[in-house]
Amino acid sequence: MSRCLTERSIDHVVLERGEVANSWRTERWDSLRLLTPSWLSRLPGYRYQGDDPHGYRTMPETVAFLERYAQAISAPVHTGTAVTRVRRTETGYSVATDRGEWRSRTLVLASGACNVPTVPAFAQALPPGIAALTPMHYRNPGQLEEGGVLVVGASATGVQLADEIQRSGRPVTLSVGEHIRVPRRYRGRDILWWMDAAGVQDQGYEEVDDLNRARNVPSLQLAGYPDCRDVDLNALTALGVRLVGRLAEIRDGVAQFSGSLVNLAALSDLKMNRLLGLIDDWAARNEVLCDVPPHRFERTRVPASPPLTLDLRRGEIRSVIWATGFKPDYSWLDVPVLDRKGRIRHDGGVVDSPGLYLMGLQFLRRRKSALIDGAGDDARDLSAHLAAYLDGGAVQFARQRSAAADSLASLGF
Ligand SMILES: Cc1cc2nc3c(=O)[nH]c(=O)nc-3n(C[C@H](O)[C@H](O)[C@H](O)COP(=O)(O)OP(=O)(O)OC[C@H]3O[C@@H](n4cnc5c(N)ncnc54)[C@H](O)[C@@H]3O)c2cc1C
Repeated sequence: MSRCLTERSIDHVVLERGEVANSWRTERWDSLRLLTPSWLSRLPGYRYQGDDPHGYRTMPETVAFLERYAQAISAPVHTGTAVTRVRRTETGYSVATDRGEWRSRTLVLASGACNVPTVPAFAQALPPGIAALTPMHYRNPGQLEEGGVLVVGASATGVQLADEIQRSGRPVTLSVGEHIRVPRRYRGRDILWWMDAAGVQDQGYEEVDDLNRARNVPSLQLAGYPDCRDVDLNALTALGVRLVGRLAEIRDGVAQFSGSLVNLAALSDLKMNRLLGLIDDWAARNEVLCDVPPHRFERTRVPASPPLTLDLRRGEIRSVIWATGFKPDYSWLDVPVLDRKGRIRHDGGVVDSPGLYLMGLQFLRRRKSALIDGAGDDARDLSAHLAAYLDGGAVQFARQRSAAADSLASLGF
């Protein structure tokens, strides 16, 4: 957004409570690599320039990439400046920080989608003696006691942590709710190459039937390991991970799992096959040269009757990791734009308050909006809207349907 505002000669500052790339520096586990290949971090006027475009960046590499970008575009970043309160004024916004107040006519909220881990209320009912961690505080398996680990949640974070912890010799039980299975590689290419090329990542927020659902679907079961291995449920089962259903409650020290595992796994396979079908159709229509013909993966193997309970008082489980998602933190936002669930009311990033904008949330304007690669297109659109607002002109987006709009409608995630 800073780069786009500079292009339009709009005077601005970027306030950051930590350093540039703060979340990548301070809120991620040691072994994490981006699950997006390096070429898929295109930012306005900038892209990966190294010699491994198909590799997956480590955290230090990710931090260095963003630092270089901030320098290259001379972003006017004020680091070590935490925003403590935002209020509306007659002319715009007052932004209180721990280093003084700023006033502006317009304001872009780009404080991230993953500020706080979401943990179910029944987490309180864990028996004493079991260590509980969220992915924000997990760093590596060495932090955990020897013994069993219950990982709750099987999306990108949960499956990666289950893989790493099981390999450390601590037996993992993985509680699986709704999840989206995709292979790391398909027909000789990265799945995200196909999704990008076929227009899946560009699907617009106006093109989905149920936007609320699209904004809440879990992340893809993917990891950026150098060996490109899959982290789906079959891969984890082969490692020895025990699968159980969605954790519904903890009562009297006993974890209760739902019986939906078989159905959820079948649904996830179905959606994966729909995606692969869409990719095959697109590849055929566009005559993409490909040595590997269309094929399908083994269906997910799940126990026919997985355990519905696990007595957490027995001592088998020593740690629980809540890989149950993240949410933004708007505790500092004193502008009446939150709905009943604490989410900001907005239309594609144009917030329900004049001159206020939002960036970086899932499906904000496109399927890719919450990825590094999605920030550029959203910033271009929203900076145009913001410039028109400052000029007092008509503020309208050109409505566009993505090329693949009709086939994407049936994707189901
Ligand atoms: C575990 C994990 C893995 C991910 N993997 C990938 C991946 O492989 N590829 C990918 O493209 N995306 C990935 N993402 C998504 C990733 O978060 C986004 O792509 C990207 O970080 C979004 O950038 P952002 O600037 O919108 O948000 P953030 O990176 O979260 O940046 C928000 C910034 O705002 C600052 N801030 C927050 N509140 C305040 C305040 N009150 N005052 C001042 N500053 C404040 C924070 O310190 C932070 O630096 C992942 C996310 C998570 C959680």
